Formats: sequence, C-alpha cells, structure tokens
Amino acid sequence: MHQFINGKLQPGTSGQSLDVINPATSEVVESVGLASLTDLESAVAAARSAFPAWSRTAPGERAGILQKFARIMEERTEEFCRIESSQTGKPLRLTREFDVPGTIDNIGFFAGAARHLEGKATAEYSPHHTSSIRREPIGVVGSIAPWNYPLQMAAWKILPAIAAGNTIILKPAEITPLTALMFAQALSDAGLPDGVVNVVVGDGATVGAALMRHPNVDMVSFTGSTAIGRTVLEAAAVNAKRVHLELGGKAPFVVFDDANLDAAVHGAVAGSLINTGQDCTAATRAIVHRSVYEEFVVKLAARFEGIVLGAPGDTDVDLGPLVSFKQRDHVAGMVERARSYSKIVAGGYAPIDGRLEKGAFYRPTVVVDAAPDSEIVRDEVFGPVLVVLPFDTDDEAIQLANHTVYGLAASAWTNNLQRALRATRDIKAGCVWVNDHVPIISEMPHGGFKQSGFGKDMSAYSFEEYTQVKHVMFELDDVTEKNWHRTIFDLR
Ligand code: NAD
Repeated sequence: MHQFINGKLQPGTSGQSLDVINPATSEVVESVGLASLTDLESAVAAARSAFPAWSRTAPGERAGILQKFARIMEERTEEFCRIESSQTGKPLRLTREFDVPGTIDNIGFFAGAARHLEGKATAEYSPHHTSSIRREPIGVVGSIAPWNYPLQMAAWKILPAIAAGNTIILKPAEITPLTALMFAQALSDAGLPDGVVNVVVGDGATVGAALMRHPNVDMVSFTGSTAIGRTVLEAAAVNAKRVHLELGGKAPFVVFDDANLDAAVHGAVAGSLINTGQDCTAATRAIVHRSVYEEFVVKLAARFEGIVLGAPGDTDVDLGPLVSFKQRDHVAGMVERARSYSKIVAGGYAPIDGRLEKGAFYRPTVVVDAAPDSEIVRDEVFGPVLVVLPFDTDDEAIQLANHTVYGLAASAWTNNLQRALRATRDIKAGCVWVNDHVPIISEMPHGGFKQSGFGKDMSAYSFEEYTQVKHVMFELDDVTEKNWHRTIFDLR
C-alpha cells in the first residue's frame, strides 16, 4: 500500500515494484508497488474535487488541522526518525536533531501563516472606484521531490500549498518514498479532508513527467536536478502552469585572510559534509586567501580524516553512506577523473573494512590544485567532496565564487565589515551566510538565483508562491454613462 490517494493508502497498479534499500546495510526496508498513470489520474481527480471546499475553508480551520498535525508528528517522532534514517542511511542523530524537529517547526510556521493570508489594500485609486486585493489559492499543485531530505522536502512542498488553500499531488523520489507517505497519513489523522494531499510513488520519467504536464494541474513545484528542471519548464508550457523550481547548487565558501581560521575549518567540515554532502546548499568550493590556504588545507584534511563513518543507529557515527550505490559510483567517478588534473589530499576512496563494506560509504574527500573550469569545480558532485581553491584579491574571490551556472547558497568568512557587506552584495546566490554555512530557519526563504531555479521554499515568500493576486474593482457612482466611455464612443 504505497499510494496515498483521496485519503486512503492503496496499492500501485503499474505491476512494477521497487525495493527501498537501506544504503548502510543493503537490506530491503520495504518493497514498493509503483504507481501507474491510472493511479496518477485518480490522484489528480481527487485533488481537483477536493479543491473547491478546501479553498473555502476558514484560515483558522486550516491552522487548527496543522496544529493538531504538529502534535501528531511530535508523538511519532521516533518512528519518523527510524524510517527516514533507514531509507536514506542518515545517522539517527541527524534525523533527531535536524530532519524531524525542522519539519515540526515548519508545520508550526505554516499553521500561523495560514491565518495571515491577506491582500494589501482596499482604497480609491480612482475617484470613481474602490479597489481591493484578494490573495487566492492557485488550484491543484503537482510537486516532485528528491531523495536527499525526503521528509523535509515533503513538508516544504505540501505545507505552504495546503495552508494557502490549494490541493496537491506529491511525487517523492521513488527510492525514498516512505516518510512522505507517513506524512500524508498523519495529516489525514489530524483531520485533513480526503483528496487535499495525495502522494503518488512512481517512476520520474513516466509518472513524474505526466504530473508535470497534466492539463488539470495548475501549478508545478519541482525540487531536483537542473537537467530535469529544464524538462519541467517545457512540460509546464503546455497549459502555461505556474512553475516553481528548486534546482542544483555548487556553493562557494569564501575564506578571507582576516577570518577566524579555526572557525572556518570547522564550518567547512560541517557545511560540506552535512547529509554526506547530499545537500544542495552544502559547501563544495572553499575559496581561500593564499596567505592562509596551506594552513586551511592541512587542518581541513586532518578533520576529514577523523570523520567516523558508520551505520545510522550507531551513536558515535558522524556520517552515513551515500543514498545509493548509484550515487556513490557517481561521486567516485568524478573523483577518479579529477585525479588526472588535481590532487586528492584526504579520502578519495570507498572504505572496505568489514563494518562498512555492505554500504554505499565514501570517505570524505578534499581536492586541491584543480583548475576553476575543471569538472570537479564546475559540476555538482552531491557527495562528501570539498574542493579548495586559492585567491589573491577580494575581487578574484568574488569572481571565483560566481564562476558557476548555479546560485543557490554561499558563505563569506571574515571579521571585516566592509568585506562582509561587499561579499553579501556581490555573490549571486539566494542565500549568503557570513561566518556560518548551512543553517536554515522556517521564517526565512530558501531558493536559488541563476540555474538553481526560481521560487522560494519556507517562509512567507513560499506562501506567496502558492497564491495568486486578484484585483477586485467596484464602481462607486452608479451612473449609466461613465465619463471614460467617451474614449470608446461619443456620448450625445
Ligand atoms: P533528479 O532531478 O534526478 O530527481 C528529482 C525528482 O525528479 C525525483 O522524484 C525523480 O523521480 C523525478 N524525475 C526524474 N525524471 C523526471 C522527469 N523526466 N520528469 C519529472 N520528474 C522526474 O534529482 P535527484 O538526483 O533526486 O536529487 C538531487 C538533485 O536535487 C541535485 O541536483 C540537488 O542539487 C537537487 N536538490 C535541490 C534542492 C533545492 O532546494 N534547490 C534541494 C534538494 C535537492
């Protein structure tokens, strides 16, 4: 039963199944019957028929359901942590301290936001009319999520959409669908009407692509790679859907010569290795002033060598495996190709000791001496790999930071106020941290510049993405022959 359609868990009818694998142990967590295009049609129909009533629900009622949902999530925290960790290989520590509490905080934010949906003005902008602004839901939303944070991605997609009065069909990544299904079930247990949230677990190229181009879907919201994001844009053109894209990243981590170097080294370890580097905002390119470059590399490599890999349940584990062997092969392939044009000063291999050999583990890797246009510097690795590049002038640092098609996140490490201000102004990214890298909060937007996409997740900005603005104009004078008519025909 791995489809959640119209308030009920039901089997997929494609006749195909996929094993959800724990990548730390290679054990099968669950076998999932995948959705057919008929299942997708049922989900779109359920969302369409639920929309009129849900969109007219009073904001306080929507907020009440979300508040109850947050309490249910709190009660089920351990179950969510266990399943999230087993389908992704993440250490339980990360799910307990980041994924699940972050999700519950997001629910609380959107429960409040649901009651603050408002237009900007009611006033007479013409002496003969009163204008007002209504902010309305868009309709049926089709969303697609990746596998790196399955629970949080489900939350980021579903919560603003339904808080604003839309209904939704979410297609999670097929290799990690379990917590999105649990999320939908818990919403239903909190009293969400049937059909408002539907989760369809299917293959990206068929079910995902069909959802993106479906004529009865009014908006698409996609988080994933830039390559697939481009196809989503094309699919959405069919009926001119609203599009929201959260795509790839290649975040720079700029360390100026006045920075607290030890803080920068700590920040680089945490900022690049979070979620085993499978984080679109993770630090991937440390751009370090030449005067502190050697010291930074030595300290960083020592820290990387000390990182403990292991199975999710072990309490002393720092890092889990990659999400799959396919992803590990992708990471290892990029590092192997980089050997010919750069130097690996930490990691660069898959560990083979008995405890780890069944998992998709890869040692945290530091790469130096790579040219700014080389593959390892330019393209997304999406794994535990940090490249370090030197710079001489502030202008060069900013130029290197921006030397990518992506623009999702970045950080600048400095104690100089003017440098910090210039870096935050000049780095083209949707988020720039100063003296930190990675923290996110429900009140602030997450989203990209350039080919990292457009549209924001979390915060009031994401709420706006899922609504449309309507101008309503009332005529005040009650006259038959309005003065402006004379611009069209002569009033005699
Ligand atoms: P992906 O693009 O391969 O897949 C993402 C989702 O798209 C999956 O659910 C997949 O089934 C679906 N999909 C695949 N082909 C499709 C198609 N033709 N039409 C419609 N849907 C299709 O990405 P991934 O490998 O799952 O995730 C990693 C990528 O996601 C990285 O590029 C990463 O940077 C990005 N990401 C971005 C953010 C962000 O907020 N910007 C967050 C997380 C991940």
